[in-house]
Amino acid sequence: MIRLNNINKSYYVGNNPLKVLKGIDIHIREGEFVSIMGSSGSGKSTLLNILGILDNYDSGEYHLANTLIKNLSETQAAQYRNRMLGFVFQSFNLISFKNAMENVALPLYYQKISRKKRNIMAMEYLDKVGLKDWAEHLPSEMSGGQKQRVAIARALISQPKIILADEPTGALDTQTSYDVMKLLTDINQEGMTIIIVTHEHDIAEMTQRTIRLKDGIIEQEDQRSPQPVLV
Ligand code: ADP
Ligand code: MG
Repeated sequence: MIRLNNINKSYYVGNNPLKVLKGIDIHIREGEFVSIMGSSGSGKSTLLNILGILDNYDSGEYHLANTLIKNLSETQAAQYRNRMLGFVFQSFNLISFKNAMENVALPLYYQKISRKKRNIMAMEYLDKVGLKDWAEHLPSEMSGGQKQRVAIARALISQPKIILADEPTGALDTQTSYDVMKLLTDINQEGMTIIIVTHEHDIAEMTQRTIRLKDGIIEQEDQRSPQPVLV
């Protein structure tokens, strides 16, 4: 599903290159649940942004579902993103003046699906994350865990091939984090490929494989049978 070969990426601060990713090789198969760990500044978000076609890389190759993702126009990149990828963020990124249903429905608006159909589908996905009764509520009326569930429903509604999540539990308390991980585990068990960035060991241990980054290099990979999520 995902194949990175010798990916390198630098940022330029003035004329000085800051090498952030130094020859990254990763292969992720369809249906895997993978975590990326590493200390702050190790390149986790940079890597996730490349996987999400939100940023370019300097050299190497990135294949997503057998398509080489390189030097795409902004339009092409947006097409691949919309068709292939769902995003979940630490800070939820919900629109504050839209209710839960409207937030979940938003990706379908850009696909020019009618309002009626959008709202029916949004209700199905809210139901899937256990929030059907919260459809009319604004984000400000919901807990952090509920907001992240809305964000997960929004990521799922365009039926992506892969969910990419940058610190999805970073703003949540322990029990709520486990609830969100349980939801992601259920979604993975239905076949979704999921990649999360986290710096919390207990969260990483709920995934099947952990890729550890250190100073832009893969330091270690742990394969495990995932722990059952305690709720
Ligand atoms: P992590 O997510 O692991 O904390 P990042 O991928 O965000 O790390 O950042 C890796 C390094 O690259 C850090 O030193 C950071 O300061 C630097 N960096 C990230 N984004 C940019 C940017 N847009 N311009 C310059 N430097 C950046
Ligand atoms: Mg980061």
